[in-house]
Amino acid sequence: MKFTVKDFFKQFPDDDACLEHLMETRFGKSFECPKCAKESKFHRLANLPAYSCQYCGHHIHPMVGTPFAKSRTPLQLWFYAIFLFTTSKHGVPAKELQRQLGITYKTAWRIGHEIRKYISGKDNEEPLSGHVEIDETYVGGKLKGGKRGRGAAENKTIVLGMMERDGRIALEVVDTVRQDEVLPHIIDHVKEGATISTDENRTYHPLTKLGYKHEKVQHNEGEWVRGEVHTNNIESFWNIFKRSVKSTHVHVSKQHMQKYLDEFEYRFNMRKETHGHMFDDLINGFAAGRDD
Ligand SMILES: [Zn+2]
Repeated sequence: MKFTVKDFFKQFPDDDACLEHLMETRFGKSFECPKCAKESKFHRLANLPAYSCQYCGHHIHPMVGTPFAKSRTPLQLWFYAIFLFTTSKHGVPAKELQRQLGITYKTAWRIGHEIRKYISGKDNEEPLSGHVEIDETYVGGKLKGGKRGRGAAENKTIVLGMMERDGRIALEVVDTVRQDEVLPHIIDHVKEGATISTDENRTYHPLTKLGYKHEKVQHNEGEWVRGEVHTNNIESFWNIFKRSVKSTHVHVSKQHMQKYLDEFEYRFNMRKETHGHMFDDLINGFAAGRDD
């Protein structure tokens, strides 16, 4: 199902409609009041973005515990920024948020940052399984003296990618490609017993001992595909990822790279869903706030 800009403004015509939506998805329409313990309906207060218990007057603030609290940016603009995130293929640069929302660059950057942080914190369900391709790549920075390959990684951020065949992806920033840095991420993200395809990099040699069916292609000997064994999918992903980062964000520092990766991971893992589904997942996904 399509979810157009028109649909968005029909569902969220103003800040009040957005607050109402947050209240309903995070708390429900009627629930046990945390103060007086009665099953209560909560009524919107006229002068505050809050609701109060029909019996004891206890206040519930639906924005507390979301990126919207403590922000002077109207709630509807936040919702619209999230909508833009879900309709874009490659991510939304701060400049575009600035233009579309009519806010300052600084505010636009902060909103993008907070949305990425939120996406980043969404739980990554099941470990990867089946046949998983694993590879590492270098993003950003400059190659020293035009050198290529693994020795030329200074100033660059190293990213480890794990990708199910025709399935989901997991991406992690790593400081080095040493085994003690890389293997814990694989153990964390890939189910024991899965088949793993990599190149000949020594980093991956212990995978068999760790309980995986490990298959290698010898890139240094010109072997790229051996039957089902290859890393072509993760390598195409790197190409798309690098082009996207370049075209939308110019430069991403190492410090912020993990959040961009998490956004890409989320977008990739949602690629078979409509953006309307993605929007619902994000806008309805703030943890229930009953303990406020
Ligand atoms: Zn109450």
